[in-house]
Amino acid sequence: MTDIANSMPWHRRAWSAVQNRLSEGRLPHALIIIGERGVGKRAWAEAVAGLLLCDNPTGQESGKPVACGRCKQCELYAASSHPDARFYSPEKSRMVKVDQIRALSTFAVASPQVARRKIAIIDRADQLNINAANALLKTLEEPLPDLTLLLLQESGRPVLPTIRSRCQTLTIPTPDPEAATTWLAESVQRLDEANRPPADVLAKALMLSGNAPRLALEYATGDFIAQRDDAFARFKQFMKGQIPVAEAAKAFKTLGLEGSLWLFEGWAADLARLSSGGSAHDREAEEMLGYLARTNPAWRAHELLDMVKDSREAGVYNANPELEASRLLIAWQKLMPVKRRVG
Ligand SMILES: [Zn+2]
Repeated sequence: MTDIANSMPWHRRAWSAVQNRLSEGRLPHALIIIGERGVGKRAWAEAVAGLLLCDNPTGQESGKPVACGRCKQCELYAASSHPDARFYSPEKSRMVKVDQIRALSTFAVASPQVARRKIAIIDRADQLNINAANALLKTLEEPLPDLTLLLLQESGRPVLPTIRSRCQTLTIPTPDPEAATTWLAESVQRLDEANRPPADVLAKALMLSGNAPRLALEYATGDFIAQRDDAFARFKQFMKGQIPVAEAAKAFKTLGLEGSLWLFEGWAADLARLSSGGSAHDREAEEMLGYLARTNPAWRAHELLDMVKDSREAGVYNANPELEASRLLIAWQKLMPVKRRVG
């Protein structure tokens, strides 16, 4: 089996930390792994789970163990049918629910079926609803020697302090543009030629993802870029008073709530960066946002970021993307000089 840090070099530090702790016999019972969306947290956690389950890791003597790829555990894990590895991620409501954590708790107290230990991965530990968080706390308070919990957290989305304080944390950084470009180029080489995105699409995907490689791959091979371009065009037209809010908001419908909030959050964060003398990540929006940054006080950007946060919280209760987009568009338009507004 390959060392994940070879394919994703920006994982090396967090990966080595696990290798070292494993070979020194001081692996924590619960780890929180923090990183921006799309840096490969899930791939990292899956590689860690594979290593922890393996019966005969190679490279033990060097202190850099990797899964052997040949034992029964490795075979079961590669076939996605290992009974001692469980994966929990948000359901339709975008939250991890208490029923899932109850299932985890049952799994936690049972003996491993075929391996020496059990691994539970919670993708988006920042999306636990309150009952789920309380249920997880019980499992964390009574650590079990044969269970390792890997909790994935998106940067900037807090995990409850009571959970955080019972876990060790590791960070996966966002790679530099060069490493991100290399990984993305190699990944698309594995696609059929007909599905391989051209270089300009790859560059744009990297820009829009802030160099988060897996997110860039998703963008480059999916509909997101076209949907974003349409939404951005409508957003600009609305800001100039050329179209009514309902027409602008329609463009956000296809993006869904999470996709729409992701864009508004990115633009607000860029506005904040420009207001404090920095540069925008979304270079196509830089001209418009730069104008707004020069004509508005800096706190406006933070107000817009807070509004996105409110919408995200409302999203738990199935908020409508078009309505939330309208609300945010109207708030953004207040940043325009009065003479350029509709009406
Ligand atoms: Zn193995």
